[in-house]
Amino acid sequence: MSRKLELTPVQEWGFFTLPRPMVIAGPCSAESEEQVMETAAGLNEFGIHVFRAGIWKPRTHPGSFEGVGAPGLRWLQKVKKVYGMKVATEVASEKHVFECIKHGVDMVWLGARTTANPFLVQDIAEALRDTDIPVLVKNPVNPDLDLWIGALERLNREGITKLGVIHRGFSASEKIAYRNDPLWKIAIELRTRYPEMPFFADPSHMGGNRAYLQEISQRAMDLGLEGLMIESHCDPSKALSDASQQLTPAALKDLLESLTVRDKDADSKEYREGIDQLRARIDLIDEGILAELASRMGISRRIGEYKKEHNVAILQMSRWDSILERMKEKGRACGLSEQFIETVFNAIHEESVKAQNEVLEKG
Ligand code: PEP
Ligand code: MN
Repeated sequence: MSRKLELTPVQEWGFFTLPRPMVIAGPCSAESEEQVMETAAGLNEFGIHVFRAGIWKPRTHPGSFEGVGAPGLRWLQKVKKVYGMKVATEVASEKHVFECIKHGVDMVWLGARTTANPFLVQDIAEALRDTDIPVLVKNPVNPDLDLWIGALERLNREGITKLGVIHRGFSASEKIAYRNDPLWKIAIELRTRYPEMPFFADPSHMGGNRAYLQEISQRAMDLGLEGLMIESHCDPSKALSDASQQLTPAALKDLLESLTVRDKDADSKEYREGIDQLRARIDLIDEGILAELASRMGISRRIGEYKKEHNVAILQMSRWDSILERMKEKGRACGLSEQFIETVFNAIHEESVKAQNEVLEKG
């Protein structure tokens, strides 16, 4: 059972300005003072006010670049001083939190690997108690909504009310085009439970490649999310981590300008906003239905092969009748009419028989 969260509205954080998206941008990792300052300069030029940079990097393999550590926090202080930006970094231990407090970091986030670990989240929550630092919580690597909510609850119980979330996708067990599976359904469920909590998408870690950043960002806007956290590096090809997903500040500016964002605050747009969000959800479900239909057809063809090998006729009406009966019963239980179930499943069956016949005729 998730408990109610006590939240400070994001408008009172003093970080972000409307209209959407609220943007957090900066390199995956702080690598050098020059790289940090040059990237911040490029972002500041077109009005990005919140700068991100990883100081301690959780890497899959030891020996990869694991971040510059605490000395990099001085570069973030310089970004604050020179450009007046707010600065944010990832914390994964109480030691990181203490370093951030010492160096005036304005906001922290919990990474996906940290959110998955309640011991660490508890330590971090306690270390942040009595500070006023906003905390953004990335989803855990595994698609476990309760674990994500549990982390928010731990922070909230220690008095942290400037709380938000970052959706960065989930590790996929099968190979997919994106680096991490968006599984938007889970994000929508969280949004529905806590509609007042600021919600960021992280297209960089979801997509894993520059090519996908625009479509993911647009989808996040269509679903009504408030913000985007996007990795930006002054020279992406030389980045020491996540090179393929980082954008130059100029390319990020183009991406943001290309987004269609319907502003919640614009007069009488409330209705359009609502309808567009519902439509975006329908689009997601339709894509899911398509994928399921395609995999069902694949299995039908395999059954066709199998029947052929064993010299069995394609059409077995008794099997089909029993499928249809079962589906009608299940359909009734979730409020779908018999007529509708019959129409949909007969169309599926017809196509499936056709596919099996093609298999038969092929050989
Ligand atoms: C990051 O933001 O650079 C990062 C390591 O992200 P995640 O925790 O989503 O993998
Ligand atoms: Mn990264």
